[in-house]
Amino acid sequence: MSKPDYYEVLGVDRNADDGTIKKAYRKLALKYHPDRNPDDKQAEEQFKTCSEAYEVLRDAEKRKIYDTYGHAGLSGQGFRPSGMDDIFSNFGDVLGDLFGFGGRGGGRRRPARGPDLRYDLEIDFEEAVFGTKKSIEVPRHAACETCNGNGMKPGTKAKPCGGCGGRGQVFHQQGFFTLSTTCPQCRGGGEIIDSPCTTCRGAGRKRVVRDVTVKIPAGVDSGTRLRLKNEGELAQGTSQPGDLYVFVSVREHKQFVRDGSDIHVPVEISFVQAALGASIEIPTLEGSESIDVASGTQHGDRVVLGRKGVPRLQRSGRGDLIVHFKVTIPTELSDEQAAILREFATSADISTA
Ligand SMILES: [Zn+2]
Ligand SMILES: [Zn+2]
Repeated sequence: MSKPDYYEVLGVDRNADDGTIKKAYRKLALKYHPDRNPDDKQAEEQFKTCSEAYEVLRDAEKRKIYDTYGHAGLSGQGFRPSGMDDIFSNFGDVLGDLFGFGGRGGGRRRPARGPDLRYDLEIDFEEAVFGTKKSIEVPRHAACETCNGNGMKPGTKAKPCGGCGGRGQVFHQQGFFTLSTTCPQCRGGGEIIDSPCTTCRGAGRKRVVRDVTVKIPAGVDSGTRLRLKNEGELAQGTSQPGDLYVFVSVREHKQFVRDGSDIHVPVEISFVQAALGASIEIPTLEGSESIDVASGTQHGDRVVLGRKGVPRLQRSGRGDLIVHFKVTIPTELSDEQAAILREFATSADISTA
């Protein structure tokens, strides 16, 4: 398969200068860029071909070889046309600029917001149901008070970094390409501190353990995530702190089983109470309460006590308390009890042992 002529691909003269080649490529790259031609295989091929042509013609050495020996000369030189990924990594900066998403910052970079922190908090069942306040200790950084986080000895000033002219980024011109990297002298801050703060040695922040009070609203459950704004980590002394996320997990209760805002509680009743009905004490979130057991209650029957469950988180109202009756059968009977039950069996025409 014969390769297209690189000059023809870019539509330039054989003795076109660098500027003309650059301009021609820019025009074609814009036209065939995959972002502008999604799912268009033909455009993608065109884009690859013109990028390949540009890769050769922008380079004086390669261009000379190509002019003299054609495509064969380049393959002998170990030149391999770029794959799509290579095009983006090699030309990304140029194409980024063309499409307006080149993240190149001019001027001093503003300190980034600090990272968020996670804290896992285990609380009791009742604390989750009714809400509470918890004091937790969060190790993090705080701004140095001596220098207000800027790392400078009070009364002194930073001077603009000479390495990058205060921009925080240094640019390398490579033909058509402008590559930017973080300035190694100021590490991107754009300023050089001559007299660092003696308290924090110029760091602008120090390690602390903060006591943070977490308000646990009524109705939280395992998996609830509470966000405490600005209680997270500081990236730099002057940065805005991130947020603190408290992940709640709730300890199990001895009696109650929670299901969202409903609570289930198993209650044992004697087979006699089940048969005759009774008034019994049951546990609720607010202490014990007496309820009626209807005569003829079966094992597994349920009674729903409305709005005796868990307050709904961030909404009004409460869930239900659901009582599950477990009918118990005595494992030992006295002679008298056995005699009474046999009498009952005879009267009900039930055969017994
Ligand atoms: Zn300081
Ligand atoms: Zn610098």
